[in-house]
Amino acid sequence: MNPEQTTLKHQPTGEAPSIEAAIVLANPRGFCAGVDRAIIIVEQALDKFGAPIYVRHEVVHNKFVVDELRAKGAVFVEELDEIPSGSIVIFSAHGVSKAVRAEAESRGLTAYDATCPLVTKVHIEVEKMRKAGMEIVMIGHKGHPEVEGTMGQVEQTSTDDHQASDTTNSTGMYLVETPEDVAVLTVKDPAKLAYVTQTTLSMDDAALVINALKEKFPHINAPKSDDICYATQNRQDAVKIMAQDCDLVIIVGSPNSSNSNRLREVAKNQGIDAYMVDNASYLKPEWLANKKKVGVSAGASAPEVLVKEVIAQLQNFGAGNVQELQGVVESVVFQLPKNLTSAAKTNTVQS
Ligand code: SF4
Repeated sequence: MNPEQTTLKHQPTGEAPSIEAAIVLANPRGFCAGVDRAIIIVEQALDKFGAPIYVRHEVVHNKFVVDELRAKGAVFVEELDEIPSGSIVIFSAHGVSKAVRAEAESRGLTAYDATCPLVTKVHIEVEKMRKAGMEIVMIGHKGHPEVEGTMGQVEQTSTDDHQASDTTNSTGMYLVETPEDVAVLTVKDPAKLAYVTQTTLSMDDAALVINALKEKFPHINAPKSDDICYATQNRQDAVKIMAQDCDLVIIVGSPNSSNSNRLREVAKNQGIDAYMVDNASYLKPEWLANKKKVGVSAGASAPEVLVKEVIAQLQNFGAGNVQELQGVVESVVFQLPKNLTSAAKTNTVQS
């Protein structure tokens, strides 16, 4: 049954419709090492220097996290010209272009970099490949800040001039999202070509685009190691396994979170109903009607507290016990930026 068409209404505890779905919890889920690090960087900056601490773009794509940091004194802006000169700025986990770094310096801002080291790894790849005289095809979602940052490692800050059909590209970088984009892509020298990817793509979708690139440009160079990060891979694998045994999947994540959206798609591609919710208040009891097993997972930027609230609400609707699946154990930890850890504390206000 299409859950959108059911007529069941949300009812308070005790009067919930007959729902007996068991809950299955994917593993791993939620925070990755890059998100953990980015949040700690903002918190440490607030602790050391006091509010306001400016953050360029949402430090990670999660409303709950951003609201919590805002309450502690973080000020989120989209552009550096919104920040008074001489202030402290933190670059988000998605990374920034070289032009943004240069602008921060020219405006006299003190920058602390929360770019995930796995995004920085892609930036370094891009720089090396361009120095080696290669043109680069980036596989990613147009407009996503990570794509803008990676494309911006070579002179431009905007992706607007990097369309797949742009044959006069002067930066040597092209952005493609789909095999159809590859079909119309023209490069200067197919013998000197490489590709990189956004770190949070669907592995299945990326494979289709990579295959299309390899078919069209047989000599294209692949990255030394996968650009799609360990956390994205592990969470997608876990949802795929979990979804095989479920007839409904709920992903906890904010609408602008790329990896959360991909998790919902991974579940949906298994032919079952799948929804993404920012928090428990978005759940609808009718989604559970006639379901036997509901799988729950969370994007890499979604905190566990929201998962717990989602489970509590599902049970409030009548769902049963929780079974947590076994999964890959992640032990990745990233170091904090040296300029932050070594900076002297200037905030003397006791909290
Ligand atoms: S999802 Fe991957 S690339 Fe993005 S912050 Fe997490 S570890 Fe880093």
